[in-house]
Amino acid sequence: MPHDHADPDNHLDPMEARVRALETILTRKGLVDPAAMDRIIEVYSEEVGPKNGAQVVARAWAEPEFAEWLARDATAAIGSMGFTGRQGEHMQAVFNTDQVHNLVVCTLCSCYPGAVLGLPPVWYKSPAYRSRAVMEPRAVLSEFGVTLSREKQVRVWDSTAELRYLVIPQRPAGSDGLSQAELAALVTRDSMIGAGLAQVPA
Ligand code: FE
Repeated sequence: MPHDHADPDNHLDPMEARVRALETILTRKGLVDPAAMDRIIEVYSEEVGPKNGAQVVARAWAEPEFAEWLARDATAAIGSMGFTGRQGEHMQAVFNTDQVHNLVVCTLCSCYPGAVLGLPPVWYKSPAYRSRAVMEPRAVLSEFGVTLSREKQVRVWDSTAELRYLVIPQRPAGSDGLSQAELAALVTRDSMIGAGLAQVPA
């Protein structure tokens, strides 16, 4: 499968390179505390970013017409909610079902649907995840605590700079009467990468 990257030699885009240079200078001059910076990044990667995706998933669970649109043209459906890629990349939504579980990886680097999930987790960028997700996805999933029945097929999607995937996890049992906001709270970042399942309501 072709794997095109906008910038094969250097995966920092110009903005990321600028940010990194700025961070280095500010740290050297003692103007910022790297630990505080890490915390800010953590907030964006685990809280702010994935909440966009969680809203998309909750809406797909609640509104069948939106789910159909998402399946047909995820870029447009997600864009209608105000979430668009910085570099204009296309989105594809892959739906988990009773028969299929989807898992997303970028085998070459760390292409990730930033508009809906924010910053990628550290493990997503690790060489181990990038190779093992393809070679032994079931073993990787079980390490994330996701055990699938043998009958369930696992599909692995390799992201590129042009096309990024959002996993739509299955709607959990016991979530029938919930509002979209309550549903969104059940959608974890990992469930939208395929490395987890949506939470079951308490
Ligand atoms: Fe990549």
